[in-house]
Amino acid sequence: MNHMGLRILIVDDDDSQRSVLQDLLVNEGHDVTTASNGEQAAEIFAQSPYPLVITDLCLPGTSGLELIEPLLRHSPDTQFIVITSYASLHTAVGALRAGACDYLVKPFDDLNVILSVVNRTVDKIHLIDENQLLVERLRHQNTDLVTMNRILQELAVKDGLTGLYNHRYFHEIMDIELNRSRRHRHEFSLLFIDVDHFKLYNDSHGHLQGDQLLRDLCEQLTSRVRSSDTVARYGGEEFVMILPETNKPGALTLAGNLCRHIAEYDFDGAHRQSPGKVTVSIGVASYPNDGVEPNQLIETADQALYRAKQAGRNRVV
Ligand code: GH3
Ligand code: MG
Ligand code: MG
Repeated sequence: MNHMGLRILIVDDDDSQRSVLQDLLVNEGHDVTTASNGEQAAEIFAQSPYPLVITDLCLPGTSGLELIEPLLRHSPDTQFIVITSYASLHTAVGALRAGACDYLVKPFDDLNVILSVVNRTVDKIHLIDENQLLVERLRHQNTDLVTMNRILQELAVKDGLTGLYNHRYFHEIMDIELNRSRRHRHEFSLLFIDVDHFKLYNDSHGHLQGDQLLRDLCEQLTSRVRSSDTVARYGGEEFVMILPETNKPGALTLAGNLCRHIAEYDFDGAHRQSPGKVTVSIGVASYPNDGVEPNQLIETADQALYRAKQAGRNRVV
């Protein structure tokens, strides 16, 4: 591992010992600041915390031991190496308990020993930094994944042209609604809505404007139903609505209103449709009277829609 330069604060009242340490660490490429007592060290540290503090335990005034706790409170990741003498080795134990990570014994006979102790701590600091970076990166990637998942989920259930729920999701909602209604003995209704003579519209305005009409229609349909109602694109120019807690008379009323509203709405290019307006036909089926299984209900609504077409379109059956 390389011991990339670190900001290190050395606290020692012994000038020559301080210089020896400073020279040694500067030579290793570190950015070294020195203080000759605890008060001065605290002041320097307060301006900008250091990742590593090497402090003599025996200082005039504030001792090295007394320095550790307040500095750690200010900067919990800071590492401390304390300096002690053989005679008072027991004080190093107190410093380790207070949060120091290692100690040096003075006088410094072998500078290599000093270096290896310092380098061990420098490596530890770099590892902690790298770990924090990794954790941060993982957190970011996780957020990206959550967003991506949400988008994928949307794509999986939505129709690309209109933004309505798609055919597959409609079937899922249908199953959920059926089970819910069964459990609570509630009624619910299903509307099948098909654009009248849409082929004609495409033929006279082109497919792109046909697409736009589908989007405009979808906006008119969704804006006129409750948020608890589900509107989906069944396919082509056919839409379906699931209306929870709505019986047949209620559904017929809503469908009648939708039908009238669409016929009255001024869609682009409506004048070229054969009755001079864009219209829809709607088939209605209700649970449980028209069926108790999804397929029965869909079949019933589809047949009703067919009869509405047969009877002249722009109507509800
Ligand atoms: P009807 O009143 O009997 O429903 O007549 P129609 O012309 O609406 O019905 P038909 O089933 O004959 O034609 C439906 C047309 O809808 C044909 C098809 O090209 C068109 N269509 C289906 N999906 C889309 C689409 O996504 N965009 C556009 N522009 N047209 C579509
Ligand atoms: Mg049609
Ligand atoms: Mg159709």
